Amino acid sequence: MDRRSVLIVLANPEPTSFCHALTHAGRTALEAAGHEVMLSDLYAMGFNPVAGRHDFDGAADPERFHYQSEQARAARLGAFSAEIAGEQRKVAAADILVLVFPLWWGGAPAILKGWFERVLAYGFAYVDGYRFDTGLFRGRRAVFAVTTGGTPARFSEEGVYGPIEDVLMPVRRLGLEYMGYEVSEPFVAYAAPRVAPEVRGDYLAAFAARLVEVAALPVAPVRSDTHPLDLSSDAAWTRAG
Ligand SMILES: Cc1cc2nc3c(=O)[nH]c(=O)nc-3n(C[C@H](O)[C@H](O)[C@H](O)COP(=O)(O)OP(=O)(O)OC[C@H]3O[C@@H](n4cnc5c(N)ncnc54)[C@H](O)[C@@H]3O)c2cc1C
Repeated sequence: MDRRSVLIVLANPEPTSFCHALTHAGRTALEAAGHEVMLSDLYAMGFNPVAGRHDFDGAADPERFHYQSEQARAARLGAFSAEIAGEQRKVAAADILVLVFPLWWGGAPAILKGWFERVLAYGFAYVDGYRFDTGLFRGRRAVFAVTTGGTPARFSEEGVYGPIEDVLMPVRRLGLEYMGYEVSEPFVAYAAPRVAPEVRGDYLAAFAARLVEVAALPVAPVRSDTHPLDLSSDAAWTRAG
């Protein structure tokens, strides 16, 4: 079996949380199966989710801050801050990207949203004309695990929150699939704080099994150059969106 490189991005502030337990179970199972696991525990790292000029060395325009233009320049010149460049190196090296987070106000905690905005930068994670089927990360796989307070009934068609697939669509479709990842069905630990301990045990076992299963699937070889485009050409990034 091929050895995969896996990056787990964890966004929960409490080390004894169920998100941490899922991360630990997944990591242990992957390593036991011979895979390499990198971890970005965002709260433990003190990751700053706020975008700004501190993301870059230098500026394309010191007068007016246009985020995607600054990201494009930094991608071209290798001018991201050390914090962002370090995370980008991990993303670039990973065959499989795994996100683990609690559902907060119907989406990812702000720290993870900020990780998307800052790390998955224009010029690094996407460029004009290269999205979805032509996304820069096509050939790689992504999995995400979400814990909820709400029960499955609340996330049903008739439930007050609506189907979980709809709730998670922004992360899946507008984030991971946008970059070209092949995304497996979201793993949802419904009502994690309310269910019986045995159910939480089942969640941990099922998530560990899911990750090992995904790691056994084929992936396209990780590129050493994450920018297959000629980024020295302005045309590649002048129309960001
Ligand atoms: C700001 C905010 C917004 C929210 N918005 C929403 C929302 O929109 N929709 C919604 O449904 N919910 C919402 N919630 C609830 C939230 O999604 C849940 O509280 C969260 O998903 C629970 O996951 P956790 O990792 O924090 O688990 P925890 O609450 O930390 O843990 C759950 C249980 O698992 C136990 N546990 C820990 N480790 C293990 C282990 N190894 N084995 C077995 N059990 C273990 C813990 O002791 C605890 O009993 C919100 C909460 C907050 C704070």
